[in-house]
Amino acid sequence: MSSYFDRRAEPAPATQPFAAGTRSDVIVVGAGYTGLSAALSLAEAGTEVTVIDARHVGWGASGRAWGQVAASAKFMPAQVEADFPPDVAARINAAGAGAPDLVFGLVEKHGMECDVVRSGNLIAAHVPSREAGLARTVADLARRGYPVELLEGAACREVIGSPRYRVALHDRRGGSLNPLAYARGLARAAIAAGARIHEGVAVTGLRREQRDWVVATGSGEVRAGAVLLATNAFTSSRLFPGIGEEVFPVRAYQLVSEPLTAEQLATVLPARQSLNDTRKLFSGIRVWPDGRLQIGVDGPPFDMAGQAFLRAGSRRIEMTYPQLKGLRWQEGWGGWVDMTSDEYPRLHALAPGLWSGYGFSGRGIAIGTVMGRDLAAFALGRPQDAVHPVTPLRPKVYHAIHRQLIGALVMWYRLHDAVSDARFPRLGEQASPARATH
Ligand SMILES: Cc1cc2nc3c(=O)[nH]c(=O)nc-3n(C[C@H](O)[C@H](O)[C@H](O)COP(=O)(O)OP(=O)(O)OC[C@H]3O[C@@H](n4cnc5c(N)ncnc54)[C@H](O)[C@@H]3O)c2cc1C
Repeated sequence: MSSYFDRRAEPAPATQPFAAGTRSDVIVVGAGYTGLSAALSLAEAGTEVTVIDARHVGWGASGRAWGQVAASAKFMPAQVEADFPPDVAARINAAGAGAPDLVFGLVEKHGMECDVVRSGNLIAAHVPSREAGLARTVADLARRGYPVELLEGAACREVIGSPRYRVALHDRRGGSLNPLAYARGLARAAIAAGARIHEGVAVTGLRREQRDWVVATGSGEVRAGAVLLATNAFTSSRLFPGIGEEVFPVRAYQLVSEPLTAEQLATVLPARQSLNDTRKLFSGIRVWPDGRLQIGVDGPPFDMAGQAFLRAGSRRIEMTYPQLKGLRWQEGWGGWVDMTSDEYPRLHALAPGLWSGYGFSGRGIAIGTVMGRDLAAFALGRPQDAVHPVTPLRPKVYHAIHRQLIGALVMWYRLHDAVSDARFPRLGEQASPARATH
């Protein structure tokens, strides 16, 4: 969990001590966005719901994210249409488009103090060869009626405040927030609606007894009519055979800086959009309401105690924002991202009364909130309300060597990004591309 987020968030809500031998309608395992969104929906529907987390609310990725709330998961609508049948693609795309409204709507409805900034998200082309693709994406999203625009040349430079880029997509639907504050806000809202949350209790096993699920923990057993697994990168086959072999946990890192000066704040992302670019690894940059910069940065991909690569973070910032040369980092942290083989989330109906939802591949703030609602819809007997398709569990035979495979990929991506940065350090100072290439 990030202590910077913690300092800026409202205190965690009081949760209840665990008592063995109780029964609930539904038990949710995991108190991140997915589990808490499920619990909120269930409690609001009058269901007796208990959330159990091995650590505490927001301890997982939900308390460590970069904080961008984007419309859509990893893929743009046209790609989703290519990958799914038309009815499923339409549901996923509609939910993605509305996901920022869902998140910011919950923030507003429940009065969460989350440092919300809603001026949109930017994706910039880091090499000339990605510029036409961004233009095509903007044209496609605009055709669908979404508030997106292509920024080129001086407009791009001004919005980003950098000589690095000359073409960017601006999607006005998205924004950013304090990730931990949002998790705590969901927890507070769920508790107010009647949910129970137990922290510091690890679920160690599940078994079916008559019509109930018996949930074993280190502190004794509890029962429920249904169980929802919202365990993200920590998903383990100890809870259901094969489930841990479908998710590939990869470590991602964040750095937050000392406050920028007033002059710097006037030029760096002056309207406070969050910025990504088209590179392979970690490109996120945002400015917080207190004037600090937060970036996503490379680091050891599998080391629980690994530290962000500080020098790589500084190099990237100095290249993107020469006016920030010498910026000092105040804090860094890492978290596990739950990658899937195709970067689409997974919703499984594992057994009667047992569902799981995970695999957001680094885009879970909004989509995890949607997935939580989906899980709740199944537990409530309303599967028709779910957005994500139920797919069969497909453990990956190569899971045992995923660190070697992903490690090699990360090396290739690092090289790829380094070559791009060396070749095109200041694209923004070159003439804008001809629109005819779009
Ligand atoms: C560094 C980083 C940056 C990111 N940036 C962004 C971003 O900008 N935008 C975005 O949309 N997404 C981002 N993500 C992804 C996003 O944070 C996740 O997709 C999202 O938080 C997943 O939420 P979750 O509830 O599914 O899982 P988590 O928040 O990881 O929660 C899972 C919980 O399950 C609990 N648990 C696991 N196993 C057990 C068990 N056996 N018993 C009891 N409890 C258990 C854990 O303790 C944990 O609290 C980022 C992720 C990381 C790591």
